[in-house]
Amino acid sequence: MKYYPLAAQVDCPFFDERPNESDVNLLVIHNISLPPEEFGGDGIRGLFTGTLDYSAHPFYAQLEGLRVSAHCVIYRDGKIEQYVPFSHRAWHAGVSSFQGVSRCNDYSIGIELEGTDNLAYTQVQYDALVELTSFIRKVYPRISLGRIVGHNDIAPGRKTDPGVAFNWTYFRQRINHRKSLVSEPTQMNVTAKKSREKL
Ligand SMILES: [Zn+2]
Repeated sequence: MKYYPLAAQVDCPFFDERPNESDVNLLVIHNISLPPEEFGGDGIRGLFTGTLDYSAHPFYAQLEGLRVSAHCVIYRDGKIEQYVPFSHRAWHAGVSSFQGVSRCNDYSIGIELEGTDNLAYTQVQYDALVELTSFIRKVYPRISLGRIVGHNDIAPGRKTDPGVAFNWTYFRQRINHRKSLVSEPTQMNVTAKKSREKL
């Protein structure tokens, strides 16, 4: 069971075993808002925990019986909730395929940003996503930069999230920068060790 230490863990019934955890090599970014285009409520939590009051909003009627989840949700204020341990299979991708390999849920990690396709995500959401992505890539190093994709990339024609509002250029720059920051302490340790060896 693998969790992000900075996330609040939430019990979720919608997950199962991966066919093989060593296959994890893809990160999928989504967006969600419930009710649509409204932020700050507990609709997402309700959906992913199977406790949504389907009568609370007209839109919710079409969600009844839906059994979906994601590994993590990043809210507009940057807070993160984790619903499924990374070691297990969350149900976020649906019918999907990446580079010819179908059933992306089997080998991917799904992160939901509270948001919509057309409204800019918040700065603290990017900050939180960069840190979370960095953590995940340390645990699953096969997730290369090119294997961080949108739901739209693995279900084209069916899904559009995270939408044009998601700034991939900025996000990738931040990830690259974060990576170089991460490597610095290692470099310093090597230097420190070398100078100790001289003594
Ligand atoms: Zn999605």
